[in-house]
Formats: sequence, C-alpha cells, structure tokens
Amino acid sequence: MSTEHPTPTETESTGTGAAAAGTRLDPWFGSYSARTRGMKASEIRALFAVANRPEVVSLAGGMPNIADLPMADYADAVADLLRERGTRALQYGSGQGEPELRDQITQVMAMEGINAHPDDVVVTTGSQQALDLVSRIFLDPGDIVVAEAPSYVGALGVFRAYEAEVVHVAMDEHGLVPEELDRVLTSLAEQGRRAKFLYTVPNFHNPGGVTLTLERRPRIIEIARRHGVLILEDNPYGLLGFDGEPLPAMASMAPDDVVYLGSFSKTFAPGYRIGWALAPHAVREKLVLASESAILCPSNAAQLAISTYLSQFDWQAQVKEYRRMYAERRDAMIGALTEYLPSCTWTVPDGGFYVWVRLPEGLDAREMLPRAVTALVAYVPGTAFYADGSGSEYLRLSYCYPTPSRIVEGVRRLAGVVNAEAEL
Ligand code: PMP
Repeated sequence: MSTEHPTPTETESTGTGAAAAGTRLDPWFGSYSARTRGMKASEIRALFAVANRPEVVSLAGGMPNIADLPMADYADAVADLLRERGTRALQYGSGQGEPELRDQITQVMAMEGINAHPDDVVVTTGSQQALDLVSRIFLDPGDIVVAEAPSYVGALGVFRAYEAEVVHVAMDEHGLVPEELDRVLTSLAEQGRRAKFLYTVPNFHNPGGVTLTLERRPRIIEIARRHGVLILEDNPYGLLGFDGEPLPAMASMAPDDVVYLGSFSKTFAPGYRIGWALAPHAVREKLVLASESAILCPSNAAQLAISTYLSQFDWQAQVKEYRRMYAERRDAMIGALTEYLPSCTWTVPDGGFYVWVRLPEGLDAREMLPRAVTALVAYVPGTAFYADGSGSEYLRLSYCYPTPSRIVEGVRRLAGVVNAEAEL
C-alpha cells in the first residue's frame, strides 16, 4: 500500500460490499492499478492556477509564442483543405501516420543530418505521446532509465507512471558528461543491472538550457553502445538555435542505437498535438502496435493541416523569425539577471526556451515560490526536474512567452524576493 495515499481506515470507509476498500471521497479507491501510485499531480499545480492571472509575470510555463503566425492566410488554407480533402481529413487514418506528412518529416529531420525513410517514422500525438509509447514498449516496473540531472518534468512523469527507476547523470555547460555516464552505467553493471535506455535532450535542454557539444555526441553513443543501452534522443528545440547551423542529431550518427523524438510544437504550434518518433525497424513496429492500441491512429485532420502548412507556407522563414524573437527574449532575461540578480548563477542558452538558475547558498526555490507568486512572479522550482525531489537550490525560468519588457519586470520582482530571502 502506498504511503502517499491515506488508507481507508485513515479516512472513512463506506463499508459496503465491493466498495469496502473505498472511501466516501472515492468509492473506487481500492480498485486502482499499482501504476497509478506513480501518477502525482504536481505539488505546485495549485500555485500555477494563481500564476496564470494576468498581473503575474509567469516565467514558469513553456508555452511557445505563436502570436505572429500568418493566421488569416493559414485559416484560408485549412478551409481549402477541408473543402478539397475533407472526407480524408475527417476520416480514420493509418496507425503509423499519414505517408504525406511522414515524408515531410524526413525533410525536417534532414536539417539535422538525419537520412531517414518515411517508413521508419511514427506520427504521435505530440512527442509527449512518443515518450509514453517508448516507455510502454521498453519499461517493466523496476526497470532503470538513465537521464540527465535535471530532466524534463513531463518525461519523468511518464517514467514514474511506468514504475521505472530514474538514475540521474550529471550535466555541465557542455551537456551530459560522458565520463559520468560511463561511471553510472559501469556501476549499474557491477550490480548486475542495465538501464533500458538513456533519456537525453541534447539541444537547448529543458530545463538545463545547455547543449551537448558536437565532440561529446559520438562519445555518448560509444558509451551507450558498449553498455547495451538504447538512446532516447528527445529533440523538440533542435531547430531553434540562435546562431549557426543545427548540430547533427545523434540519430544521424547511430540510427540503429537511437530512438529520436521530434515535434511541431515549437517550430510551428503545439495545438494540433503532432510529434513523431524515428526508430530502428523492429522498435518502430512495436511503437506502431502500441500506438494503435492507445489511440488507433493520430488525428488525420491535424496531420493534414500541418502538412498543408509545411507545403504551402515558408515554414523555414517562420522558424528563422521564431529564432530572432526568442533570442531577443533570451537577451532580455540574461540582461535582467545580470543587472538584478548578481547573487545567483545561471546557464546562458544558445537556443530554446529555458534558463537554469542556481540560488545563493541556503535558499530553497520550492519554499520561496509562494512568496514569489505574492510578489507577482512565477517560476518552476528545480525539484520538479529530479526524480528524487532534490534540486531545491535551482529554479527554471522560461523566456518564451512574456514580452521582453515583462521578462525584465519579472526578473526584477524575482530579485526582490531572492534578496529578501537571503537577508532572512
Ligand atoms: N520533450 C521536451 C524536452 C519538452 O520540452 C516538451 C514540451 N515542453 C515535450 C517533450 C513535449 O512536447 P509535445 O508533446 O508538445 O511535442
């Protein structure tokens, strides 16, 4: 019995028949699967409801800013799509995803050096569903996933739901540290254990803000291969680098060792919920079966709407515009941190949405959050990004959604809270 849940005797049992293990609040309390014990609402969810009020500057969420999309023209294109191909768009489709979109996805991935065949792409309901499918086909309760410290909170939630154990590996300003990965995998091997996969976000890490260097990529692949560990390369931000060309994906270097996840959420818009997985053949077959049992097929309407966007609009120019806009916001945030928060340290991202901040010695980001919200600024405490709940000296700031002037105001408010806290 989970210690997180009150037992029926601790609350009041209904005491009747099949519901005897239930409570007045939830008669089905005793019926849930063991797996649901890993499903926890975020402790900070209630605070975020408050943080969404307009007077609060939220540096917490990861919502992309899509206000400048060519909405009127796109609305016309989608209307044409429904008029011309409506019976296809509104019909069930292939479990693996629309061939037309899978072909376009291979062209998107080519920008990161990946030479893929559309048959090896599985379209998913956001890359979040791809995380779920990969976990579903690889993880039994108690299995190990190795992941960066810190790691994307949404991935940790999936791994927890499949009752996996997450073992964190250190990152530095150049991304995941190869020697640390080798050390962790060797130590697991010495205990007779092997991780099922390495979960990594190599580009513009969420929440770390750092990027795995080109030099480290083949080393990570070599270490994972030597230990027989699959790499799950989660890459929603790869095309959102502020300078230079995108780095080659690890999937381009070792297609047989990597399951690569991509998404249109940040390079176009998240609302259609379309992402994808690129996987070696055998894995791909299992992913399709798992997806069919979960959702039958991804939304045809959403896939064709994205396909229409890719073929009829200059999506690469839009990505360039996103880069310019997010770079300006990153500059606003880094400038404000430098001006107002000299007592903290932080990462300086070359792309993506996030800055990872370390508080002055002795401060606790989770304890501080209610006071920050009272001061009308919100962030995500570092503890959300560690499977073991450590990381209280860190917080994640995102600069993707607020305007530059709001970002500066938010950091100024945050500095007031941090400074007051440091003086306590
Ligand atoms: N992976 C990472 C690292 C993310 O930051 C996100 C979104 N915040 C996702 C996966 C999920 O993205 P989506 O489901 O919208 O494709």
